[in-house]
Amino acid sequence: MEFRFPLRQHVGAPCTPVVEVGEEVKRGQRIAESNGLGANIHSSVNGKVVAVNENEIVIEADENQPKDYLPIKDTEDPLEAIMEAGIVGAGGAGFPTHVKLKSKIPGGYAIVNAAECEPILGHNINYIEENAEKIISGLKIIMNLTEAAHGIIALKEKYKNAISKLEAVIDSDNIEIKYLPDMYPAGDERVIVREFLGVELAPGQLPGEANAVIQNVETVKNIALAVEDRKPVIDKDVTVGGRVKNAQGGTVFMDVPIGYPVKKLIEKAGGFVEPYGEIVLGGPFTGKHGEENDPITKITGGVLVTMPFPQDKRKFGILACECGAQEPRLREIVEAMGGTVVAEEKCKRMKEVNGRFRCELPGICPGQATTVLNLKKKGAEVIIAGSCSD
Ligand code: SF4
Repeated sequence: MEFRFPLRQHVGAPCTPVVEVGEEVKRGQRIAESNGLGANIHSSVNGKVVAVNENEIVIEADENQPKDYLPIKDTEDPLEAIMEAGIVGAGGAGFPTHVKLKSKIPGGYAIVNAAECEPILGHNINYIEENAEKIISGLKIIMNLTEAAHGIIALKEKYKNAISKLEAVIDSDNIEIKYLPDMYPAGDERVIVREFLGVELAPGQLPGEANAVIQNVETVKNIALAVEDRKPVIDKDVTVGGRVKNAQGGTVFMDVPIGYPVKKLIEKAGGFVEPYGEIVLGGPFTGKHGEENDPITKITGGVLVTMPFPQDKRKFGILACECGAQEPRLREIVEAMGGTVVAEEKCKRMKEVNGRFRCELPGICPGQATTVLNLKKKGAEVIIAGSCSD
C-alpha cells in the first residue's frame, strides 16, 4: 500500500525531501527537512520511496510493519527534541511547536487545550482517559521550557472520566484542571484566555500577550513522546464519523500512521453508508472537503462522511463566521447543492486585522437579523450560515 507524505503539513514553507526514488526507508526515518519556518517529516512505515515531487513523497510500505521506530537524535535539549521530531499544532493549526515554545512567559500560564469542542471528535479525550500521565509530563516540559509558573488543563465538566484520570496523576500544586463552557468554540485560544485569565485579547492578538501559551492535547502528547521516548511525529489520532458503517456517532482510531489513505481508514470503520455526500477532513465546523485518496497528515483530526447534499436550485446568500465556515467553504456547499450564490456577508463581529478577518468575541455571537436582511436585499432567496449560533 502507498503512503503519501505532503511536504507541507504545517504553517510555513514546504519541506525539502532528503530521500530519493528507490531508497529503502525505515519507520521514524527523516524523509524531508524543514526549510525556514516548518517542521521535519518522517516516514511512518518501513518501505521504498516510489515518488518524490514538489508536493509530496510517496512510499510503498512493506507488508509487515514494526510498531517501534528509529528514534530522533539523542539530545538533552527538549526544544531541540521537539524540533527534530517535527511537532506542529495537531489541533489543526499546524504551527511549528518548537517556534511557539521559544518564547518565555515567566510566571505565566501553560494551558493544555482539551476542549474537544468540535462535535463528534473524541480522540483527545480518549487519549487523556488512557494516558493522563503523559499529558502531565508534556505539560511539565512546556512549563519548564517557557518558565510558566502555572499549568492548566482546560476541558469541559462533562468529560468526567478524563477528569478523574487526570486528578489521579496530578502531583503538583502548580497544575490544575479548569472547566470551559460547553459551547462552540470553547477551544478557541481567545475564549480560553478570556475564561481563565480574564483577559479579552483583541482580534489578532496571541495568548502570549496574556502571558500564556496554549497547546492542544495531541501536541502535548507528541512533546512528551519526543522528549521522553525520542519519537518523531509519525502517528496521528483520528476520529472517523458520519455516514460510515461502524462509526456513525464517531469512532476513535489511535496512532494511525501518517500518510495512511483516508479511504482505507473509512474501510476499517466499516465503509461508507450509501448514499453519502462528501468526506470532510477535520471537525464539522472547520473541516475541509477531502478526497478518498488524501492521506492522514499531522493535522488531520477527523474523517467525517456527510449525508448527501439536499438539492436546491434557489439563489443563495452566504453568511460567513470566522470560527466556523467562511466564504470558500460555504460556496463549495452551495455548489454541491446545485444552488447559485448571489450575495455574501460576514458576521458583523468579523473585523479585518492585517488583511485577515477575525472574530471580535468568539462564541458571544450576535443576532444576524440585519445581515440576513442585507442578503435578502441583494436577491438571496435562501441563506446558508457558517455561524455557530443564531
Ligand atoms: S461572533 Fe460571529 S464570527 Fe464570532 S463566532 Fe460568533 S458567529 Fe462566528
